[in-house]
Amino acid sequence: MPTPPVFLISNDDGYRANGLAALREIASQFGACYTVAPDREQSATSHSLTLHRPLRADPEGDGIWAVDGTPTDCVHLGLRANLLPERPTIVLTGINHGSNLGDEVTYSGTVAGAMEGCLLGVPSIAFSCVSTGHSRDDLMQLAPWIERVIAFVVEHGLPAGTLLNVNFPDPRRGEIVGIALTRQGTRIYGAEVVEKTDPRHRTYYWIGGDVIDDPAEPGTDVHAIEHRLGSITPLHLKLTNHAALDWLQERGLATSKETAP
Ligand code: MN
Repeated sequence: MPTPPVFLISNDDGYRANGLAALREIASQFGACYTVAPDREQSATSHSLTLHRPLRADPEGDGIWAVDGTPTDCVHLGLRANLLPERPTIVLTGINHGSNLGDEVTYSGTVAGAMEGCLLGVPSIAFSCVSTGHSRDDLMQLAPWIERVIAFVVEHGLPAGTLLNVNFPDPRRGEIVGIALTRQGTRIYGAEVVEKTDPRHRTYYWIGGDVIDDPAEPGTDVHAIEHRLGSITPLHLKLTNHAALDWLQERGLATSKETAP
């Protein structure tokens, strides 16, 4: 019989979040679960690692540690520090309260936690659900789909250097009709920056949270969610634009012939 998986679970909404509780309940059917998660909300912290101050990890009981750091810090400690009684074999992050679609992925603390797991050589999956304010029971409606993804990774692993970014439509707004493999669509934070004056007559700025997306493009994560499908996008962290290498080469930017193959 194969060894059961050991899960490291994190998120960017804080260790008390409903999404994390739901994900842990779902994963616990497959194997042992340890949670190392931020002690408060750390959404949109991207892939930031805390290097210039010490980190504290407080035990909260039941295999849960609350860390005064980012999701990336949490996954890093869970995999590299002597915190857990056994070594995790799979990293799960989420279920994020809010989508991580298209270009949102670059800001996401949830996806970054899975990126960290991937960089440290552990198969990693980020789960997110569109909109916010879900109860744990709302999110447990996603269980059959999340079980399907976890069971797949338990059985097959993932290609090296690959993480999965999984998003779901809001389960409160009707049935989820299936789950699709997708590519990143286009979705950017498009709201205007609000400019106002504080009580001490200084100007302040507040970046809006509204997004502009392009749901028209079939095959994308944004399109799948618009059509009540769960979305699975494989991501990797090699950001080189290979087509642009040729474009730059043709225009003579380099002085040496030592180009990337
Ligand atoms: Mn979040």
